[in-house]
Amino acid sequence: MVISDKMYEQLYTNGLSVSKLYNLEPLGIGTFYAESLISYLCRLAEEHSVTAGTLINKEIIPILNKSYLQKYAEYGGNGFFDGAHTINGTQAVASDFVDVLNSLTSRDDLTDLTLIKWKHVLSTKGLLKDYFSWCPVCFEEWRLKNRPIFVPLIWGLQAIKTCPEHGFYLKDRCPNCKTKIPLLHRKTVLGYCPKCREWLGCKNSSSELKENNEQEKRWNSWVNKNVGELIALASHIDIVPDRKVISWAIKCFINKTTKSNTAEFSRILGIPKTTMYGWAKGEAIPPLEKLLIIGYALNISLKQVFLETNFGSVEFDFEKVSIANERSSYLAQIRSSGERSDKKFIKDSLKKLIHVNKPISVSEAAQRLGINRRILYNWFPDLCKQASKNYRDYLRKKSMERKETIYNNVEMAAEELIKNGIFPSRRRLEAMLPSKIIVQEKLVREAWENKKKQYSI
Ligand SMILES: [Zn+2]
Ligand SMILES: [Zn+2]
Repeated sequence: MVISDKMYEQLYTNGLSVSKLYNLEPLGIGTFYAESLISYLCRLAEEHSVTAGTLINKEIIPILNKSYLQKYAEYGGNGFFDGAHTINGTQAVASDFVDVLNSLTSRDDLTDLTLIKWKHVLSTKGLLKDYFSWCPVCFEEWRLKNRPIFVPLIWGLQAIKTCPEHGFYLKDRCPNCKTKIPLLHRKTVLGYCPKCREWLGCKNSSSELKENNEQEKRWNSWVNKNVGELIALASHIDIVPDRKVISWAIKCFINKTTKSNTAEFSRILGIPKTTMYGWAKGEAIPPLEKLLIIGYALNISLKQVFLETNFGSVEFDFEKVSIANERSSYLAQIRSSGERSDKKFIKDSLKKLIHVNKPISVSEAAQRLGINRRILYNWFPDLCKQASKNYRDYLRKKSMERKETIYNNVEMAAEELIKNGIFPSRRRLEAMLPSKIIVQEKLVREAWENKKKQYSI
């Protein structure tokens, strides 16, 4: 299903003349599936029949008066949209957007659509995905039940790989145009690809949404449960937990499990001991995934780490330790392995792109795959050369066809003029041809000269 241009126009041609915005109810507050602030912003725009870009430009930027946003308002560009994930996060951008949206909608609960309440205990490192990730089955279910389409905050966390509801891997590329979808786009319509406007829901979860193996499944449901709990809790806590709770908890765990042997504790978990010392001393806070690993191995939830001070007896669950340990080393290599799997995907897509009837340039392929053209050449020189040759051949063929059409047009026009006893002057020919520019081309002159010769004019 695709939204037609007409629907798009209808949606967005109504002018924006609101001084204050609707008091739109945020979805799912107090549950795992609390809406994200970006999603709320997009729904609010839709309610007012304007694009997200217009809402930001006309209503939010003038109030916020921040230089990074002013630049976007004046010069456009993607800088602001590329960093949009921070709107759902823990930092100043998130609180700026919460404040302005709370005041525009006369609400006071929009903080709970971000991770702000956990700002002292969640490291920004590796926290949020900077692209859109979604469960197609959730979208389809909501659509069939006539529920509003929205984007839960939980899908946007890097630690979340599967749908908390359905257990399938979340998607991050449009099934139609294969591009990575930005989290926020000027014309975001929730549930649709902003590039090709394809509906992103899907009824069955069969082949392409692969079932995860048992170990992965247990790990992922632990992560989903823990992160979901934090999101649900946000609306129930009044005190924002301090970062000290983490070093306190880690020291406590080390003390109870290895009699304060930090090196041993680190070794069991597969985390470098210097890193662990830093966390225990409170010099740094662990990225969310590392906290989840520690919690998994000890059967301690994030909620306990952040909100409780007494953990009772703490011991390693050795059945889970190996998974936790694997997870740590996986994280250590995540950059290269992430790159490898991405590389394979890109290679396959590139192959498909260069073997179609209507080839595209390498630059366009790079753009569609969301990757720099030079990197593409670097990774797959042969494929790129082949793609480039295919594209050149295609352009040449197209150009030949075009020349032939022009040639035929000129000949026909000249023929007709001559038959009517009219001299085929350039001006007369021009008047009969589809476009003036064409006549000025060398090729047209050639055809014209030929005709003149043929009729000895
Ligand atoms: Zn789902
Ligand atoms: Zn698409």
